[in-house]
Parts: sequence; structure tokens; C-alpha cells
Amino acid sequence: MGHLAPFLRLASALSSHNCEVTLITPRPTVSASESRNISALLSAFPRIRPIEFRIPHYDALGADPFYAHNEAMRASAHGLLSPLLSSLSPAPSAIVIDISLASAFIPASKKLNLRAFVFFTSSATMLSLFAYYPRNGRALVDAEGIVLNTFEALEGDTLAALNGGRVLPGLPPVTAVGPLEPFAGGGLCARVRGWLDRQPARSVVYVSFGSRAAMSEAQIEQLGIGLERSGCGYVWVVKTKAVDREERAEEAVEVREKGVVVREWVEQEAILAHEAVALFVSHCGWNSVTEAALRGVRVLAWPLGMDQMSNAGTVERCGLGKWRGWGGGGDGEVVVGGEEIGEVVREMVAEGGGAGAGVGVGWARVGEEARRAVGVGGSSYAGLVGLIEE
Ligand code: UDP
Repeated sequence: MGHLAPFLRLASALSSHNCEVTLITPRPTVSASESRNISALLSAFPRIRPIEFRIPHYDALGADPFYAHNEAMRASAHGLLSPLLSSLSPAPSAIVIDISLASAFIPASKKLNLRAFVFFTSSATMLSLFAYYPRNGRALVDAEGIVLNTFEALEGDTLAALNGGRVLPGLPPVTAVGPLEPFAGGGLCARVRGWLDRQPARSVVYVSFGSRAAMSEAQIEQLGIGLERSGCGYVWVVKTKAVDREERAEEAVEVREKGVVVREWVEQEAILAHEAVALFVSHCGWNSVTEAALRGVRVLAWPLGMDQMSNAGTVERCGLGKWRGWGGGGDGEVVVGGEEIGEVVREMVAEGGGAGAGVGVGWARVGEEARRAVGVGGSSYAGLVGLIEE
């Protein structure tokens, strides 16, 4: 979802600017939320033409089906993707490729004289590191351009370094178009919305660790204790598995006295946009960071792996939130105690929720800058228009 969600948003933004968009998605998808989100985009944007990329068998039950799925897609670049692209009519003028497919799909696209752009779905900071990685990283110099879901106020210095040739000579132009705005989603389920609607403005903490990350049981238990101790209202998305295959849990939404525990997919965007929400305890997946930025919601960073620690650093530097050093996950996990969690959450909600708070402070300023960047004439708006013209 971390790759799919921003791609669907980019497709909707391009379509809104009157581009002819063809959306090529692999089938079958790994999780139910992927197919649901693709369908939601296609019904909201009927002008986007869907093409299904039937990938051959992959190990859907192995340790990480997402990687197996990705490998199967990469292996199909010449045999399946090329014939599919050359059969499109009218012929496309450019293709936007996910970073995880870059080294396989850029050469295949170039053979067809298609201009290949890479959409790197993490931060500009991660791109600076990733450009040095073998395989997909080294393939970046062969792209016509790189698209990022970030914006000036978040990573202006890094964007300038990338485009100034100070990160890696030969990198193509890097264009920031974020934070990409969500398209009309499915809305919040009635029980979560009903509960949120009854809470005072800026009083609730929203807790989610993304579409993939699962915490240890010991940490989940302490987090539960911490949320109760904070005294704040909470919406807590609990995930115990890394991949959702069957998303209907026994009790999907449990309404408690102080909060709501959700064991299924929630419309995160709708929660972050709700005025009751004061704080987002987040694993700092890049999409979650940009969504919090767009809504001006303060973040308490709790990165678990991948690019998330780097993203947590960016959150702290730009003023969107704090990273108390919690996180890590995996074998070296240090369980953070409920008492400490409760204290930090209470303190941050109090600072973010009091009368007058929010005017000019870090996270509110980041929110203003985010909306300015994507508004008409803003830097990310200009970036997108420039790409389309090119
Ligand atoms: N998301 C959501 N509901 C959920 C879990 C995730 O809407 O219950 C969305 C979230 O808003 C974001 C994406 O899924 O757009 C997750 O991407 P992110 O980069 O934050 O983290 P990842 O899941 O890739 O670790």
C-alpha cells in the first residue's frame, strides 16, 4: 500500500490536469486493500483506463508475498510488459515506473521509445542514499526524471542538493509534487466516525503503524496500557500480522470507554482530517508522514524499520513532530513501557490541543506550507504542471 497509494494519487492528479492516464496494475494483488483502493480510484476517475498486468504464479504464502510478487513482476518485464505497452492505442508518450521495478522496466520501456520516469515513493533524503544502491538505485541515472511525493518546506535543502548534482552526478531532474492529495476515499466506518464526532476538538491521539508493520505482543500490550494512562481519547489500529489476507476480524471495531480499537483497514486520511485528532503516533511510513503534513497533525515518531528511521529524523527536523528514540522492532526490540508512553502522549496532546496552540507552531506551519505547495501556483503544483508539459 505504501507504493500503491501514492501511485493512485499521482494518477488522479494527472487525470485532474486532463492527461490521458492508463493505469497498469498487477493481478492478482497481494492484499484485499490493494484491489479495493484500485477500484475506488477507477470509480472516482472513470477517464483513467485500467490495464491488468497478469503476473504468473508467485509464492503467495511465503514469508513475504509482497517481495515474491515484486520479483514475479520484474521477471515479466520483457515477456509480458513490452507486448502490453506496444499494444496500447493511442501509444503512450511516457511511462511512470515504481522504484522497485526500475532496473527491469526502464530498459524495457526504452526499447519501445517510451520516456521512462521513476516515481520514488519515499523521501528525498532516502533517494539520496538509494541512488547509490545496486540494481534499482543505479538504474535511476537511466530515467528521464524522478518524481517525489515531498515538498519544499519538508526537504527543500535535500531537493536542492539532488538537483544541484551534489548527491550523484548524472541523476536526472528530481521533481517534488507532494504532498499528493487523496482522492475521494471510502470514508470512515460509522462507528469510528460516530465516536470521533463526540470528542472535543484536538483531544484525540490516532495510533497506526501502517499497512505492513506488526509489533511484538509485548509492545502491543504496553502500548495499550500507555494509551489508557495518557487519559486522552484514542483511535488505535492494531495489526498483528504483516500481511492482511483476510481482513475481517472477529471484532473489527471495539469501542471502549476512552477510545476505539480497530482491527481492520481504516480510512487514515479521513481520521487525520478529523478535527478531534491532535496527535498521530506513527511508524513514519513516508505516506503517513506526508498525510500528517497535509493536515497539519503533529507526529510522535515510532519507526520500526526500512526507511522509517530516516523519515522520523525528517519529521523532527522540519518541526512536524518528535522522535523520542523509540522504535527499531525486530530482534533487537526494546519494549517501551506503558508509563513512559502515557506520559509522552499526554504531554504532546496537551501542547497540541490547548487554546491558541497550532498558530505558527511547527506542525501547523508545515501544514500551511504543504497546502501552499500543492495549491495553484505552489512549488509542487508547478512541478506537476512542468512534468506534464515536458
Ligand atoms: N493506510 C490506511 N489505513 C490503514 C493503514 C494504512 O489508509 O489502516 C494507508 C495510509 O494512509 C498510507 C498507506 O496506507 O497512505 C501506508 O503507507 P505508509 O507509507 O504510511 O506505510 P507502509 O504501510 O508502507 O509501511
